[in-house]
Amino acid sequence: MIVKCGKTALATLLLLVAGVLCAAPRLAHAAVGPGGLCQAIFNEVAASVGSYKNAITETGFCNEAALLQECASEGGAGIHHAEYQNPEDGTKRMSAKRILVMGVFHGDEPYTAAVPLLWFKRMKRINPRNSWRFVPVVNPSGLRNKTRWTLGGADINRNFPTKDWGRIAKTIARRNPGKGPASEWETRCVLAHLDSFRPDVVVAIHAPYGLLDFDGPLSAKMPFIRMMRPRRLGTFPGSLGRYLWVERRIPVLTVELPEPGRMVPEQDLELLQDWAGTLAQQYRKAAP
Ligand SMILES: [Zn+2]
Repeated sequence: MIVKCGKTALATLLLLVAGVLCAAPRLAHAAVGPGGLCQAIFNEVAASVGSYKNAITETGFCNEAALLQECASEGGAGIHHAEYQNPEDGTKRMSAKRILVMGVFHGDEPYTAAVPLLWFKRMKRINPRNSWRFVPVVNPSGLRNKTRWTLGGADINRNFPTKDWGRIAKTIARRNPGKGPASEWETRCVLAHLDSFRPDVVVAIHAPYGLLDFDGPLSAKMPFIRMMRPRRLGTFPGSLGRYLWVERRIPVLTVELPEPGRMVPEQDLELLQDWAGTLAQQYRKAAP
C-alpha cells in the first residue's frame, strides 16, 4: 500500500484531490455511476456513426456504464466505460485475459465509437473467453465540439507520459502534446483504466486511413480484414503505443477505420475482436 501510495507525485496528487486517504488507494478508481449525460453523449454518437448505425443500435451501453472517479468531468458528463468480466478472471487458472478497447481519442472521428459499442453488444451473444472493458468515447468534449483535440487543445495520443515526452516538437498544432505529460484529464482517465483493469492487450480505434497498425510482438500474424491493410507505423513520443508497448510490453492494436462512407463489414470487425482475444490468450509478457 505504501509503495503504491508513493509511486508518483501525480498519483499522490490525484488521491489528495479526490480526498482519499493513502491507506486505501484503490478507492481512487471506484466507479461513481454513469451520470445522466451518458445517454446524451451516445445519442450524439448514434447520430454521427453513419453506416455503422445499425450495428450499434440497442447496445444498452448506458444501462451498464460506469465512470471511474478520474473520468468524471464537472457537470456529470465524463468518459464512460462498461465491461464484461469473465468469471474465471482472477482465479488461479487465469485462463481469461483482459482486453481494453477505446475509441474517439480524436473528437472528429466519432464513428470510431462504433467498434467498442459493437463488440460490447456482441458480448451478450457469445460466451467470451476473456474479460473486456470498453471505453467508446475517450474525448467527449472533442466529440461535442467536432475537433480532434481536447478542450485544452491537446492531441491525447501525444500526451501520454512516455520517458521521452519532452522530445516532442511543440510547433505542430495538429499533434500538440499538451502542456506537460498527462496534462489532460482525458489522458489521466486512460491511465486510471490501465491501472485499474491491467489489460493484457489494448485496442485503440482511430480513422480514416484504413490500416491495422500493431505495436506488439513481431511473431503475431495479422488477420486479413477487408478494407484495412496491416502496416506498422512505429510509435512516437507521447503516443499510447510507445507508452504501452515500447515502455511496458503491453501490445497495442491501433485500428484505423477507413473513411466514414466505407463501412468495414460487421463480420470482419468480429473477426478482429476474436484476433485480439486470441492474441491476449497467447501473448506472454517477458519478465522485465
Ligand atoms: Zn485518431
